[in-house]
Amino acid sequence: MTQRTNKDQRQTSKQDARKTLIEISGGKTPYLLSILKDQTPYVRATVQWKDKDVLELPEELSEETLTKIKLLEPRALIYFVSEDGKAYEKTGILEEGKWIEGRIIYCPNKNCVTAQPKEPTRPKFKVVKKDPLILQCYYCGRYIDHSAIVAQISQL
Ligand SMILES: [Zn+2]
Repeated sequence: MTQRTNKDQRQTSKQDARKTLIEISGGKTPYLLSILKDQTPYVRATVQWKDKDVLELPEELSEETLTKIKLLEPRALIYFVSEDGKAYEKTGILEEGKWIEGRIIYCPNKNCVTAQPKEPTRPKFKVVKKDPLILQCYYCGRYIDHSAIVAQISQL
């Protein structure tokens, strides 16, 4: 509990500096909060605007977390706000032709080299199409569509 308090104070002292704003369509917010579960105590504001939610976090999020957010909702808009209060959109996270590497999502093909329990290879996917989202496994060529991606991410 003491550790937690220290962490909170550290976060608080930085609260006027950088922050991240995430604008996401309303229905996806519970999924988004499940991705952000480690950071959820620090979500400072959730503002509903039309059919969208805008979440404010006190820090810049990791590249992995940003990638998960975009995989969940490719239309989500992410803004970083710098220490002088300027907001700029974080783009280029999910672009056609770009590769997504790491243990963010997994190939659904049980025979894929990335699914081998003894020597699992790091998953690697190509962004084939952005909207609707389709990824392709680098190793076995299996396609994975957006609904399968959402199902995976919301289970993690
Ligand atoms: Zn595969």
